[in-house]
Amino acid sequence: MRKEFLPFSRPSITEADIAAVADVLRSGWITSGPQNAAFEEQFCRYVGSKSAVALSSATAGMHLALAAAGIGPGDEVITPSMTWVSTVNLITLCGARPVFADIERDTLMISARTVQDLISARTRLIIPVHFAGAPVDMHPLRRLAERHGIAIIEDAAHAAGSAYRGDLVGAHGTAIFSFHPIKNLTCAEGGMLCSDDPAFCERIRGLRFHGLGVDAYDRRQQGRSPQAEVQEPGFKYNLPDVLAALGLQQLHRLDVLNARRAQLAAFYHEQLADIDEIRPLAVPSYPHRHAWHLFVIRLDIERAGMDRDAFMQALKDRNIGTGIHFRAVHRQKYYRETLKPAPDHLPHTEWNSERICSLPLFPDMHAGDVTDVTAAIKDILAS
Ligand SMILES: *Cc1c(COP(=O)(O)O)cnc(C)c1O
Repeated sequence: MRKEFLPFSRPSITEADIAAVADVLRSGWITSGPQNAAFEEQFCRYVGSKSAVALSSATAGMHLALAAAGIGPGDEVITPSMTWVSTVNLITLCGARPVFADIERDTLMISARTVQDLISARTRLIIPVHFAGAPVDMHPLRRLAERHGIAIIEDAAHAAGSAYRGDLVGAHGTAIFSFHPIKNLTCAEGGMLCSDDPAFCERIRGLRFHGLGVDAYDRRQQGRSPQAEVQEPGFKYNLPDVLAALGLQQLHRLDVLNARRAQLAAFYHEQLADIDEIRPLAVPSYPHRHAWHLFVIRLDIERAGMDRDAFMQALKDRNIGTGIHFRAVHRQKYYRETLKPAPDHLPHTEWNSERICSLPLFPDMHAGDVTDVTAAIKDILAS
């Protein structure tokens, strides 16, 4: 058994990352400023988008996007229930109704097929989630949305470096990335909204900082512009330079970090191939590049004779950490009580919600760590 606990995720931080942050701390300007501007420009260029706005989190980005799109009471927003709670919370908080689309059973992603019957006269927006580093099949979904005049905002929290049919996620449409510590690129907390609609990005940029016409940092004056006036009431969702400096460093290494994740995922696939009780997610059949944000498996609970939570506990007892991405949102207390979903609502979501488990996957892991995980799984299933 492992002597040291293996967490399911750990950020990859180098001495150069630490030095870049320390430089900002010594510089006399620690909140949003030149590092923030450089991070936006370089991230924008990396994904091939027209414009990008750095934010304090992806959740903040989704809040601003819903506000800028004017989503409110009477509106319906289609999104998966197999997602992080933040999206559904924000839809609810702005007074709109979340409408859950079921997922494809083996990729955990919504598709044109699972969305089409849910569109009503009230549908304003679709929020697909690129899952675990694989991209959603966007072309059919975009065609469906266009036909009905519905907007799409992509939740790209898992998709920094993912590509769909030759283009990076974020190159087309509007996508929101997260830089939370478990994500492929981290700056502790942060996010980026990329859009091919520069006017939409400018609106987000204004709402990000109190609705003032300018940023906290005026690029010419090298300081706060005292003349700024409120154009419309806004929020306080800017990304400080201390964090943007870390984001920039990580961006420069993103392809290397993702290549390492892909290698580790390949080790897992090899070593799990002959364990009948464990089913990794399927990889999409359309052309894509996977960012391997997560390595998600489904436990065959019938064959294993144990439920997923017992399986996770058994791994923890063997010093191996795991995560759940995600527990179906519509089965969580508030949504269960307010939306009262039928027992057989969203069958693929519920089937997966009870069986999924994310195994450790982060760039600083060694091949031996993967072997420790798969050996522990074999040990658990044999006992
Ligand atoms: C992490 C995550 C978010 C939220 O990102 P934050 O930066 O923590 O706000 C949103 N959606 C998904 C699918 C996520 O995994």
